[in-house]
Amino acid sequence: MMNWKMNPSFDGHEDVVFVGGEDQGFAGIIAIHSTAIGPAAGGCRIWDYDSADEALTDALRLSRGMTYKNAMADLPLGGGKAVIYRINVDRVDAFQKFGDAVEQLGGRYITAEDVGATVADMRAIAGRTTYVAGLPRERGQAGGDPSRMTALGVFVSIEALMGGSVRGRTIAMQGVGAVGSKLCRLLAEAGAKLVVADVNRANLQRAETLGAEIAPVDQIHAVAADVFAPCGLGAGLNARTIPELGAAFICGAANNQLATEEDGARLVARGVTYAPDYVVNAGGIINVSAEYLGEPEAVVETRVRAIAPRLMNVLEAAKRDGVSPHQAADAIVRARLAAARKG
Ligand code: NAD
Repeated sequence: MMNWKMNPSFDGHEDVVFVGGEDQGFAGIIAIHSTAIGPAAGGCRIWDYDSADEALTDALRLSRGMTYKNAMADLPLGGGKAVIYRINVDRVDAFQKFGDAVEQLGGRYITAEDVGATVADMRAIAGRTTYVAGLPRERGQAGGDPSRMTALGVFVSIEALMGGSVRGRTIAMQGVGAVGSKLCRLLAEAGAKLVVADVNRANLQRAETLGAEIAPVDQIHAVAADVFAPCGLGAGLNARTIPELGAAFICGAANNQLATEEDGARLVARGVTYAPDYVVNAGGIINVSAEYLGEPEAVVETRVRAIAPRLMNVLEAAKRDGVSPHQAADAIVRARLAAARKG
């Protein structure tokens, strides 16, 4: 068994559980970063990692990220994440075993869908444990595709950054998939101009029907715009792209937009205002948590709209304390965690 406390991404995680094993044709890891505020919630990622060590690193990193996202969104949840990195057996069987492991944690970890997982997988888990979200919903109950609420959270954040309206503003968007396409629609309906890039032709065509212009994938960050919205993969803000940025504001759905910690300072030095990713992209987890807690659909939109004033508070705190926005956001979360631990 790997010594997870020796991994460079270990950050005071409460627990790590290894599920199955490569010799069993099925292997996964559940990482519980913090239950200080509530049960550790975060999806289950299915990914073909090169090694078990790489899977552990990702589980540690992603579970910590969920603690920060959930606490910032004022949800009664801690942070956790699972990764499954080998499935050489029947898929239903594998997810039932995973469900057994979640059940054994007695509610300390709540799972849901993430990259690579499906509703059918969640159903298999739900046969073994109730600590699972991401299932088909009943009428009037929160749940369903989280990307709609993620897009809304980013949209209200962009509106707030633009002083309340995006009419006549230009938004350059990198990636127009599940979230990006919905964000395009909201922005177009509100009178914004769109310039988009994507490696997927069908997704680009969908954005074009909303009047979006197309830019080359390797140039979208440099397009002259009011806002650059990364909605594809992470690490798009780095030493190469930051000097070329064509917008004064960055606000998008992608997770882990800053390639390194220093990139936050690079953005400040360039006078670019960065809306921290986990502050503005929490709409999805707000949706999932309401589903899990059996809350009505109506509460979700109110909570998602609250992301905009929260973002402005973070930016104000950054200015006041002379730190970058993501450092200000982290400090707010750390204070919340410390208060929760004191109880
Ligand atoms: P998605 O897979 O549906 O869309 C991603 C899009 O980015 C695809 O169209 C893909 O072709 C495109 N893309 C990939 N590489 C690209 C590149 N180099 N340049 C331009 N486009 C590229 O995923 P999604 O659900 O829309 O999520 C988008 C991002 O938002 C991800 O980083 C995800 O982790 C994050 N996020 C999503 C949610 C959600 O509710 N789905 C919630 C929080 C955060």
